[in-house]
Amino acid sequence: MDDLRRAGAAAVDVTADYLAGVREQRVWQPVAEEDRAWLTGQDLPTVGRSLDELVHDVRVRMLPYPMGNGHPRFFGWVNSPPSPAGVLVASMAAALNPSCAGGEHAGALLEYAVVRWLADLAGYPHTAGGGLLTSGASMATIIGLASARQRAARQDGWDAREEGLCGQPPMVMYVSAEGHSCLRKAAELLGLGARHVRVVPVDGRFRMDVDALRALIAQDAKAGLRPFCVAASAGTVNTGAVDPLEEIADVAADRGLWFHVDGAYGALGVLADGAAAAYAGIERADSLALDPHKWLGVPVDCGCVLLRDRASSRDAFSLVPAYLRDDSAAGLGWFSEYGPEQTRPFRALRAWATMSYLGRDGIVRLVNQTVRLAHTLAAMIEAADDFELLAPVTTSIVAFRYRLGNRDGRVDDLNRAIPAAVQQRGRAFLTGTRIGGMEALRACFLNPATTTEDLSILLNETRMAAAEIAA
Ligand SMILES: *Cc1c(COP(=O)(O)O)cnc(C)c1O
Repeated sequence: MDDLRRAGAAAVDVTADYLAGVREQRVWQPVAEEDRAWLTGQDLPTVGRSLDELVHDVRVRMLPYPMGNGHPRFFGWVNSPPSPAGVLVASMAAALNPSCAGGEHAGALLEYAVVRWLADLAGYPHTAGGGLLTSGASMATIIGLASARQRAARQDGWDAREEGLCGQPPMVMYVSAEGHSCLRKAAELLGLGARHVRVVPVDGRFRMDVDALRALIAQDAKAGLRPFCVAASAGTVNTGAVDPLEEIADVAADRGLWFHVDGAYGALGVLADGAAAAYAGIERADSLALDPHKWLGVPVDCGCVLLRDRASSRDAFSLVPAYLRDDSAAGLGWFSEYGPEQTRPFRALRAWATMSYLGRDGIVRLVNQTVRLAHTLAAMIEAADDFELLAPVTTSIVAFRYRLGNRDGRVDDLNRAIPAAVQQRGRAFLTGTRIGGMEALRACFLNPATTTEDLSILLNETRMAAAEIAA
């Protein structure tokens, strides 16, 4: 273990130097040919190498090529900088190396506390065992929708796990036009068929149109299909919009539908000052997906699904007959009975460290600070005559575009090219999307180290990238 002690000390230094120096580095840079060849083409060494050499290789071959999300001027997609507390404990989790499928050990037990904390933060009712950590919201969604599918089948007097879906009326799920692709992916994987995923239009604020939802459900029911689930968003990736959850919950209750909420990015936005009203109804969800590896900054991976009734996901996944179930953990059994994963990493340790280090106050501060940055950028955009906002800011995402005077027609092409050009310049990182049929730029704020100065740099970098493209 002396090797580990020595190389480990060096690794801690390298890690701390890297994190301390992130702001001075380029946000992102292309991988040099030689390093690309090494990263992708190297041979497995015949004779093992030393730990010191491994630390060296990580330092010189990998740390220069981050995705960019640790940098205070990274505004792409929904990827946060890592919490230092999460970084700290990652190797300790590996040292314990449990499978958190279940059982009587720290790895499995700590997950109960972490899931309860997450439910409390999101304002979601929690009973012991009502949720589990996952690889991300995509997996959380699969668990939520599989539970929904099995409940609907049971209500109709059959068993979707035993019989498969053949010979039954197609089950139909409803998502908004701004819903995340993981909803469709889960529906495909669960055998529902993408053609039974109804895309509900959105209103002028990119929120699910509830009248349209009602109409679609009525139409499908009349056609002999089986509406079974509505999946709302609490924070869409494009604009950060929060669907009218209370009204959607009412529709779900009226029609006997499972109510799923995708809060992967935005569920914790409820903690921002004055935001709670927009989230009213989230507590009525049958399942809620959220991603501690997003706003909270738990090092990847850490997703979570919360369930109103834990029996629903156990019924969808457990292969332990009820009379054999392990009641040692207060009758909760193993986590592997509640989802598809068997061997499960010790995600709870990174999540626990991250949340303990921030405390509730620190988490609220982080959310408020990043939401404020989004509002500040929006105000700067409104004050500038070469940019325009494309959506109201409701969480910490700003959707906008570069206007280039009024030479329309070229505006779309230009905005499509801007994100890559900004990324190449290396001083900021933003990504694009399509909003309301237009090419858009979007900036997502998750990093408490971002300053107002960084926002000016972002806009200037965007202008310079636009000029480069136009030239
Ligand atoms: C990130 C995200 C997802 C997918 O979650 P993963 O953790 O990447 O699996 C789903 N929905 C929204 C709104 C997201 O932001």
